Parts: sequence; structure tokens; C-alpha cells
Amino acid sequence: MSQTISSQLDAIRSTLIPDVELVAVSKYHTAAEIMEAYQAGQRIFGESRVQDLCTKHDTLPKDISWHFIGHLQTNKVKFIVPFIEMIHAVDSEKLLLEIDAQAQKVNRVIPCLLQLHVAQEETKFGFSPEECAQFLKTYKDFPWKGIQIAGIMGMASNVDNECQIHQEFKQLHDFFVWAKQQYFSQNESFRFRSWGMSSDYRIAMQEGCNMVRIGSSIFNI
Ligand SMILES: *Cc1c(COP(=O)(O)O)cnc(C)c1O
Repeated sequence: MSQTISSQLDAIRSTLIPDVELVAVSKYHTAAEIMEAYQAGQRIFGESRVQDLCTKHDTLPKDISWHFIGHLQTNKVKFIVPFIEMIHAVDSEKLLLEIDAQAQKVNRVIPCLLQLHVAQEETKFGFSPEECAQFLKTYKDFPWKGIQIAGIMGMASNVDNECQIHQEFKQLHDFFVWAKQQYFSQNESFRFRSWGMSSDYRIAMQEGCNMVRIGSSIFNI
């Protein structure tokens, strides 16, 4: 075997532009595989299933920063709030209110990203830009205590057409810039732009992301 997880990780890192953070998406991968990436210095890992995440959190080193990147059900929020470092795909007011309530119970403030739906696929979750703008307006003075609205997350369509992918990421970036100026200009916490996966993170970096979520290019060796 010529490739290892650590060599794949190095290869990815060497292509990241400065200030882009790497979330190693370890869903479907074992604790042993995660440890290999950990030993190569990776500390931020992304998971999309609550049960898997809780099991891995229990058994793996405590200095791992766990990010939840999947669709989170309201009734499962309580299981991850004691330790989760960021929740990437918040797509409803109800979910954000639940995270806020549960986080307060354990005295934590959890950075949350609002997921915008810009892809063509109908199955993907997220606010439309209009819904998200309305949400921000409605909640602009809301006294959040258990969460910080920390940025925008999204996915491009799963297509070969690079123009389309550029266009969709640009929509995310434009929305981020607008929201920052409109509602968060004095708020340092609102700064994350989470877009780009294995197949499209290079395009995502050209369109202004500062966090990429990469799984298969690291772990599928
Ligand atoms: C699985 C997943 C990724 C990583 O995808 P790869 O193609 O394996 O890099 C990124 N973001 C989300 C939301 C995912 O579910």
C-alpha cells in the first residue's frame, strides 16, 4: 500500500490556502482511522450521525474538536451539546432555539453555522437565502445565551459543471458578506464560511471559504 491516511492528509494540507481550516470528515470511518489522522496532527473532525459521534467522543482523545456537519434532529441535540465545538448545518429556527436551550443547561456557548440551500438538488437541507435573511431579521436582537451565530455553511450541486459550482459557492459568499455587513459588522464571532468537500474544495477556496469539510480524499485510501 503506497498511500496512508497521513500522506493523504499532508497532500490535502499542502493545497489549502492560508487561513482555511480543515475539518476531516470521519463519518463512516473507524476510531483507528481517526487515530491515524490524529497522530498526523489533525484535531478537527466532522461527523454526521449523533450515535457514531457520541461513541467516538467517548473513546478518542479529549483534545479532538468535534464538529457536527449533518442534519441534526431536534430531539438529539441534548446528546452532543456537552462537547460539540461547532454545529455546521443549522437549518431551522426550531433547531437553533433547541441548541440554545440545551447549551445553557450545560453552561456552554456553541458556535452554529446557518446552512443555506443553493444547490439544485431538492433533497439537500437548508434555508433558502430569502428564508435565512428573514430569520436574521426576526432574530437580530434576540438574546442568545447558548449559541453564537458563527457563519454560513453550504454545499454545491453534485455536478461536473465547474461554472455552476463556482456560481453556487459565490451565492454563499455573497450572502455571507451581506449578512456580515447587515447584522454582524460589530460581531467577531460571525466569521466562518464552511463550503467545499473533496470534489470541490479548490473551487470553494476560490470562492472565499475559510473552512473545508473533506472526507473521502483523506480516508478512502
Ligand atoms: C460527507 C460530507 C462531507 C465530506 O464529503 P467528501 O466528499 O467525503 O469529502 C462534507 N460535508 C458534509 C455535509 C458531508 O455530509
